[in-house]
Amino acid sequence: MTEQRGTLARVKAAPQWVAVSLAALVVVIASVASALLAPGSGGRSGAGAPAVSGRPASGAGATTTGSHPPIRPTAPTVAPVPDSIQHATEAAGPAVNITIDDGPDPVWTPKVLQVLRQHHVHATFCMIGPQARAHPDLVKQVVAQGHRLCDHTVHHDTTMDHKPFAYQKSEIMDALSMIEQASGGARVYYYRAPGGAFTPPSRALAAQHGMRPLGWNIDTKDFDRPGVPVILGTLKDEIHNGPTILFHDGGGNRTQTVKALGESLTWLRQQGYAFSFPKVD
Ligand SMILES: [Zn+2]
Repeated sequence: MTEQRGTLARVKAAPQWVAVSLAALVVVIASVASALLAPGSGGRSGAGAPAVSGRPASGAGATTTGSHPPIRPTAPTVAPVPDSIQHATEAAGPAVNITIDDGPDPVWTPKVLQVLRQHHVHATFCMIGPQARAHPDLVKQVVAQGHRLCDHTVHHDTTMDHKPFAYQKSEIMDALSMIEQASGGARVYYYRAPGGAFTPPSRALAAQHGMRPLGWNIDTKDFDRPGVPVILGTLKDEIHNGPTILFHDGGGNRTQTVKALGESLTWLRQQGYAFSFPKVD
């Protein structure tokens, strides 16, 4: 015990000696370096900074940025948002929010993106976590084309509101991290419970992570493939319900959706509607 303490004491004492010696050495090197550099550098870095003047001697000027470790691409830290279910648009005046659920899908998402591009419309994509993880290229395309991301859970369980909070939490948070990773760290602005299966605690959880709970006003029923005219008819019949409109780019053959979406965007613009995102704050 005593011996170990003695050893420890010596070990502890050693750094002080080392530190003093090193400090002296640094001062000497710094002085020599500044003396050597002084003629060439013309006093650019100022005379009263010997500790700094040692740096140029190691030729580090150009590597200043390179010497920092690269910043990991992580999701931005976002402030909490209100936890009530949002339907409103960010845009003032007559406007709608186009929302596209249940993707991304390698066949249908590119076709939906093409229609949106042709009509110069930005939409909100409510994505299933594992599908985002399986198709990160599609998630990145969605973001790059100016659309917004929405968390639509891991398993699309429309009865999740009847299950324990721990389950709801993993459905929401696991999907969030899958979507964030697939996107390369883009913000996920919204959380939409599958089938609207929100609960107060799950809304609060999403809101704490910057995701506004997102509802809808018009279900075009495109998912059921009733035919393009019926989908468009539903939109026209329900347009006064509110501004948030639901379409799908996953869950099966979306040929009707792609055609109906194009016709819907044309009609909406003719009616004088602008295209917006759901209000976050
Ligand atoms: Zn859905």
